[in-house]
Amino acid sequence: MNDMRIADRSVDANAAKISARDVNVHYGESHALKGVSIEIHDRAVTAFIGPSGCGKSTFLRCLNRMNDTVAIARVTGTILLEGEDIYDRRVDPVQLRAKVGMVFQKPNPFPKSIYDNVAYGPRIHGLVRGKAELDEVVEQSLKKAALWNEVKDRLHAPGTGLSGGQQQRLCIARAVATSPEVLLMDEPCSALDPIATAQVEELIDELRSNFSVVIVTHSMQQAARVSQKTAFFHLGNLVEYGDTPDIFTNPRDPRTESYITGRIG
Ligand code: ADP
Repeated sequence: MNDMRIADRSVDANAAKISARDVNVHYGESHALKGVSIEIHDRAVTAFIGPSGCGKSTFLRCLNRMNDTVAIARVTGTILLEGEDIYDRRVDPVQLRAKVGMVFQKPNPFPKSIYDNVAYGPRIHGLVRGKAELDEVVEQSLKKAALWNEVKDRLHAPGTGLSGGQQQRLCIARAVATSPEVLLMDEPCSALDPIATAQVEELIDELRSNFSVVIVTHSMQQAARVSQKTAFFHLGNLVEYGDTPDIFTNPRDPRTESYITGRIG
């Protein structure tokens, strides 16, 4: 706890990007997420923390309807993205996922070139006209992911040939290329070494100037370093949500306190 750096926490308190109300998830008979309500801010990093199995990833996956792909998952409640219900029948989940991008635990570049990995989303969503525009989107996305300088001379080499940390930044570039509004990250550093982790954390801090970023992490130190808002989950409940420094230094709920002081986890 002592070496925790608390991140800068300037957040526009009025800018809710996502509003979730009374969200429940069942996997078959198992009630994995229980009545979660939360407002997620724009241009800020929100960390989801809590013991393994408490529902962090389940809730993250509700935010871009990834749970639609899990046959036994049933989601109820309301999730609004800028006031629009993302579970409305008229919403196309594929289009939604271009607006609410996702980065996974293990870097998962497509077996394609670096260029084609980043160009994939803009191509399938018809976001660009012509090669020059696509080149520009690829370059800008790689720059936003702090990868351009390392790959600009080998854009047509396979993405899978990069180091783990570079692959994860490539996946971030791929997510950023469709100009999303929200970036969801599910333990994005868990497969990375400490240097690559530090680079991705620095990148997350830069991304918040343009996006709403939500990160699931099992590392409290990481949550304290990168986030302005922290949500603590326990046994499927959202126990406490607030400014990151408050959660770590002045938790209100005894379950939060037990977790951050290492008594449960
Ligand atoms: P966390 O991300 O906090 O570790 P999860 O959201 O992955 O927690 O899991 C919450 C609960 O839901 C756990 O009990 C887990 O076993 C269960 N669960 C998660 N995904 C599935 C799934 N695809 N099918 C069935 N149960 C699942």
